[in-house]
Amino acid sequence: MELKQKIEELKKAQGAVILAHNYQLDEVQEVADYVGDSFYLSKIAASIANEVIVFCGVRFMAETAKILSPHKTVLLPESDAGCPLADTITAEDVRSLKKQHPNAPVVCYINSSAEVKAESDICCTSSNAVKLVAALPDQTVIFIPDENLGDYVAKQVPDKELILWKGCCVTHAKVQPDNIKAVRKKYPEAKILIHPECAPRVVAAADFAGSTAEIIRYAENSKEKTFVIGTELGVLHSLAKSCPDKKFFLLHPGLVCPNMKKTRLHSIYNALQQRQAEITVTEELAIKARLALTRMLG
Ligand code: SF4
Repeated sequence: MELKQKIEELKKAQGAVILAHNYQLDEVQEVADYVGDSFYLSKIAASIANEVIVFCGVRFMAETAKILSPHKTVLLPESDAGCPLADTITAEDVRSLKKQHPNAPVVCYINSSAEVKAESDICCTSSNAVKLVAALPDQTVIFIPDENLGDYVAKQVPDKELILWKGCCVTHAKVQPDNIKAVRKKYPEAKILIHPECAPRVVAAADFAGSTAEIIRYAENSKEKTFVIGTELGVLHSLAKSCPDKKFFLLHPGLVCPNMKKTRLHSIYNALQQRQAEITVTEELAIKARLALTRMLG
């Protein structure tokens, strides 16, 4: 029997749902019930009734689903799929930042561990970071752990002072301003759409900066026909499906996150069949981290 069909049967028998991030392999996106960015998937995880969630993404995403749905079984098909950006900061680092800036709230990008979220006041994603920071009454805000996203937010909310942590996504950090120059020459008619996890000089040189969902929406609503995409390769799959009459090119060949690409069809099958790689978060940690996440979800 084909693997896809076996997954479908196991999923039905167990009342499971498959969530996949846009950066997952095409084959994974194809078997998923929901495909989207971190913000969309967090909302889905918090609202669906299924007892078992197979989270095709990286560890912090599956942890987030578990924190939001503590009574559900959350499986991460490849247990060592982590996020180097999330690993740049520890709970101790956050405590130390809070000591240095005792009156500043901590806004924590969702790409962070449960321990780091538990030390934070409110979580954000790249879709809502600007809106959430702008709405805070405080003048000074600690923004962790992505320095590039923090810089982007700071520029949109110039009346606030953002204390940034020097973390970055190694995948998005590969893009350089010269790459933008090169694609402008190669595809002069194209719009360049970039993720704010890229370096500030790259973001400044692009036509549009936004989260994965915002990039997809921009392309869908645009009259233009050609786009160069400055985020992870997997997004091209969603874009090709939602805009079949448009052309998409990847800004840099290195925009491939090795952790996101670990999950294959057989990983999902094994996760469902053997209930392997179940995510656990201690209740004490989950209570604190949930507070920061629910403030974000509103
Ligand atoms: S693309 Fe970057 S931020 Fe996203 S999971 Fe991979 S390393 Fe982490």
